[in-house]
Amino acid sequence: MDGMQGPRDWLDVVQKNSSPPIIKKGVKIAIIGKGTGGIIAALYFSKWAPPFFPQGCTIEVYYDPDISAVHVGEGSQLSLPNVLWTLQNMTIKEAGETFNASHKVGIQYNNWGNKGDYFHSFPGNNTAMHFSAKDFQEYWEKELAKQGVKFIPKKVKKHSDIDADFIMDARGAPKLPHKDYESFEYSLCNSALVAQCPTEYPLYNYTIAEAMPNGWIFGIPLQNRISYGYIFNKEISDKSIIEEELKEFINKKDLTHKPFNHIQFQSYHRKLNWPTWRTAYIGNASYFCEPLEATAIELQCNISDKTLGIWTWYQHDNRKSMTQRNEANQWYYKWCKEAECIIMMHYCAYNKNYDTKFWTEARLRASACLTNNNDFQQMCREAFHYDRSMVQHLGLTKEQFETQQARNFGGGWNLDSFRQNIAGLGL
Ligand SMILES: Cc1cc2nc3c(=O)[nH]c(=O)nc-3n(C[C@H](O)[C@H](O)[C@H](O)COP(=O)(O)OP(=O)(O)OC[C@H]3O[C@@H](n4cnc5c(N)ncnc54)[C@H](O)[C@@H]3O)c2cc1C
Repeated sequence: MDGMQGPRDWLDVVQKNSSPPIIKKGVKIAIIGKGTGGIIAALYFSKWAPPFFPQGCTIEVYYDPDISAVHVGEGSQLSLPNVLWTLQNMTIKEAGETFNASHKVGIQYNNWGNKGDYFHSFPGNNTAMHFSAKDFQEYWEKELAKQGVKFIPKKVKKHSDIDADFIMDARGAPKLPHKDYESFEYSLCNSALVAQCPTEYPLYNYTIAEAMPNGWIFGIPLQNRISYGYIFNKEISDKSIIEEELKEFINKKDLTHKPFNHIQFQSYHRKLNWPTWRTAYIGNASYFCEPLEATAIELQCNISDKTLGIWTWYQHDNRKSMTQRNEANQWYYKWCKEAECIIMMHYCAYNKNYDTKFWTEARLRASACLTNNNDFQQMCREAFHYDRSMVQHLGLTKEQFETQQARNFGGGWNLDSFRQNIAGLGL
């Protein structure tokens, strides 16, 4: 048939058809959405794409003027402050002055597990950050526009509606069920009741995660307010009960609050985050799981980084970039599953404070989640095989050793995070 010789020729034809062209001309990168996900991608691409495309590179951000970005998601892991420093020379102090950011040196867990309160700190002198999502988005839209990024108000229905070589889709939560997405199997929470409480300075330099009878409350302290959010399951607990508990919680702290905001969510991830050679997904368009360990923003930084790696290879070696894309899709899938395990692990221990329907159901799901995930169990075991003498033998500092090891761990966690949480929860 058409002079084909056998299976090898078929393979070549398939690869040729699905291979991207080697790009020689200037490129256009489009980002759809200017929420936190879209802005983080724009920060990466505006700085790091142009050197890789010396023939020219335009960055355009499309957004629907009728759909506002969500103004939650205000606690990061370690990547975001590094991104701001590396890409924009911005310190956390400057971030505090521009978008109300504050230091986050860890997470204070209250009332979890069966041992008592514990603190999950970050390795070495590293710090994450809290920030106002609204101020962050508005500030970077103005700054990036000054730096040449074009912001275009236009509702995008299909990717083919826009003229671009590469597309990063950051248009927020998808309508589920959807054939390209999978739900997280074990995740229990699907609602948040969020309250902003004005303060004159950051009340803490860490995030609060306090277990409650019907879920848990996060506390994110900024320069001028602290946001408390009660995360719960609306089928198990009535919203009016959650409101009462949140009010009482805030009153005990002698704070006033603005009107509560009720947010509903689902937990899901994409099956393939890089489905074609020129498209990628980020933010809620890619992944959502309850915000216990700030996994969403960490993943946004990782996705931006990997996407740039895949796209920039197209001008040199399209087979190499296809391999990178395959590896990135596998990495993403594993990362999402590990993030779910990390979150569910917190529900695993018997909670000595609460014997409620929520905690019984959460514990059952957590136990099933971890029992069915051998890779995660292996990681937990490895966390306890870390040996100081081995680190000295290798001539590494503890931090260098953990940075090396961190590659193997999902959800943004390093070895120490496993140890601290397993010990803190009394598992
Ligand atoms: C209560 C709560 C607390 C959270 N806390 C944390 C936390 O502490 N840490 C963390 O990491 N994550 C947290 N998250 C996750 C957080 O939601 C996400 O990190 C973040 O908000 C992602 O937003 P986004 O940019 O993907 O989407 P959105 O903010 O929804 O933005 C979507 C953008 O796409 C545009 N758009 C939509 N449709 C179209 C279209 N058809 N054409 C063009 N443009 C379009 C919109 O105009 C908008 O600009 C939390 C989530 C919740 C619910």
